[in-house]
Amino acid sequence: MTLTSEQEAIRDLARRLANEEIAPKARQIDETSTFDRALHRRLGELGFLGMTAPAEYGGSDSDTVTWCMVVEEIAKASSAVANGVTLTESMVHYLVAMGTEEQKKKYLPRLASGESLCSFCLTEPNAGSDAASLATTATIDGDDVILNGQKMWISGALVADFFIVVATVDKSQRSKGVRTYIVERGTSGLSFGEKLDLMGIRGFATAPVFFDNCTISKSQQLGGEEGFRAVMHGLDGAGRLGAAAMAVGVAQAAMDVALKYSLEREQFRQPIFDFQSVQFMLADMAIEIEAARLLVHKAAALRDANKAFSFATSLAKTFAGDMCMRNVTNAMQVFGGYCYSKEYPIERLFRDAKIHQIWDGTNQVQRMIIARHLKKEAA
Ligand SMILES: Cc1cc2nc3c(=O)[nH]c(=O)nc-3n(C[C@H](O)[C@H](O)[C@H](O)COP(=O)(O)OP(=O)(O)OC[C@H]3O[C@@H](n4cnc5c(N)ncnc54)[C@H](O)[C@@H]3O)c2cc1C
Repeated sequence: MTLTSEQEAIRDLARRLANEEIAPKARQIDETSTFDRALHRRLGELGFLGMTAPAEYGGSDSDTVTWCMVVEEIAKASSAVANGVTLTESMVHYLVAMGTEEQKKKYLPRLASGESLCSFCLTEPNAGSDAASLATTATIDGDDVILNGQKMWISGALVADFFIVVATVDKSQRSKGVRTYIVERGTSGLSFGEKLDLMGIRGFATAPVFFDNCTISKSQQLGGEEGFRAVMHGLDGAGRLGAAAMAVGVAQAAMDVALKYSLEREQFRQPIFDFQSVQFMLADMAIEIEAARLLVHKAAALRDANKAFSFATSLAKTFAGDMCMRNVTNAMQVFGGYCYSKEYPIERLFRDAKIHQIWDGTNQVQRMIIARHLKKEAA
């Protein structure tokens, strides 16, 4: 797979930004669990937010392969900052695909510049993998919609300026009754729980969100009556692929620090790199990271070619997520006892790795999607 000189230049710019401006802040962001809005705006300034959105709405008209490379570079430096990039792209994808002209003009430029942040409210305390069983209700009342319910684990909730909220107009219709709405911060009846003290992906203001007779105009509906299928389209489009690209970045960062450490650390009067068992762990990391990267780029290239990319995205997300957890664990092993020390970034990478087997559809759910596709193909 070859890259154009333009793709390489954008990747290199992201790498420079990650090394010079994000990496020096990563430990502090993690330790204080504080969202860095200035850094988020800086990403917008450089065109790394809403990259695939059309230029007329403030985007960069970028291809998806380039976007995935940018996500990987930023995730190498900080998962919390990369989460802002993938979440924004996901919300941009929703708005481009489902928004009215008015909604696109109003919200997309703000997201692409980094001026605003949008959170995605799907998961509930009792609706995770079975997201279509959500209980947040949307009651139509003339020209208004009244939302009631609770969302859980909402990334960016405490700092977002608006929210894409998934609710049901009729629970008995299950997935067909699902609708999506835009809710602005400050709307009466919208409130938030305490910031969640997370193990990893710290620094992105994750919290529960509550809707208590939260009343919005019907014109804030995003998309039509497509039901849960539209939500799945949104998840596939950028969220899942972004998670896979992030996982590659985290694994690459872990391998980079483990390699460096193995060349410096001496035991039995030689660098631990010289022990074949350490070399093999590093070699396996290199093989698996490259394989995951290629799966990500393949799914991205299919999306760019306007071909079906859902199956390829599930393959990429599942492999990259599992690969990330496996290889970051091995990178910890290379550090021996020092992997427990906050002196090295490996312990943060370890805490950040696990999420990639969980969010945007757990890796078990991805395997269900993959198996369903295999059965369909075989029929
Ligand atoms: C840090 C963080 C940030 C998040 N950000 C957001 C966000 O911004 N917006 C949002 O809406 N959500 C967000 N989530 C929620 C996330 O998407 C869910 O946690 C995820 O979908 C899994 O749901 P659950 O936690 O309820 O697990 P469950 O669905 O309860 O799953 C528990 C276990 O059971 C397995 N399982 C469930 N069903 C099946 C099945 N049918 N077959 C086989 N195995 C199954 C799962 O794979 C998993 O191993 C976030 C979560 C975290 C931790």
